[in-house]
Amino acid sequence: MFDTILYSELAWPDLERAVEEDYTVVLPVGSTEQHGPHLPICTDDYMAQKWAADAALLARKQFAARVLVLPGIHFGNAKHHMGFPGTVTLSFETLKNLVFEVGDSVLAHGFRKLVILNVHGGNRFAVGAAGVDLKEKYVKAGREVLIRVADDGNPDLRPRSMFDRLEKITKEAALHKMVHSGALETAKILYLRGDLVKMERVQHIDTPPVSGTDVHFYDEATQNIGASGRPRDATEEAGKIQWETHVRCLAEYLGDISKD
Ligand SMILES: [Zn+2]
Repeated sequence: MFDTILYSELAWPDLERAVEEDYTVVLPVGSTEQHGPHLPICTDDYMAQKWAADAALLARKQFAARVLVLPGIHFGNAKHHMGFPGTVTLSFETLKNLVFEVGDSVLAHGFRKLVILNVHGGNRFAVGAAGVDLKEKYVKAGREVLIRVADDGNPDLRPRSMFDRLEKITKEAALHKMVHSGALETAKILYLRGDLVKMERVQHIDTPPVSGTDVHFYDEATQNIGASGRPRDATEEAGKIQWETHVRCLAEYLGDISKD
């Protein structure tokens, strides 16, 4: 095992060895986008990087899993948040190509297992399409590769039992999904980076969750607030429950993959 779980802290002879030892490589994909008046625009990006790193460390400790985490992609497809200052968006094609080319580089060196870890709903289609293209390329070339797109909406990584526990703390948990900058997401940042949260700005926010089936822009869908649900119900405790669950579930997922 290396001293670090970060791919970019190694030198090429180490990475050559990592290929020989069949390390799983994780690519976190975040987004730099508005998260209401109270959360930092790094919210998704920060969680993508930290989730991957925390889970890789736990997977190594608990399952002796060989995992390396790539430098993440900080930008995503966030056109629906462009009505607010600060948001940065990539087009579908740019994001798809970015994910594809990073994955292609890693697989070209001989790594066999790639997990693309996405934490922003708007990225789903582009990230999924990149995964399909990578698989097509390498399978056609006769390589035995394992390419997964792990997503924070995946029930393996966000089990129902977690929502059951959270329902006792916040009503929003009954929706069994993450509401943009609502009570649950706010709780996670409160727990992880409370220094960046401006709770005094959310006292009056109570907008209905934006429907996942609507084509929507967040400025019109949330009356120019940028957050939905009831962020004022967020607590550090709810954040801790979620974070520990996410990290444990992803560590188990990486542990399983490392056995293949
Ligand atoms: Zn978010």
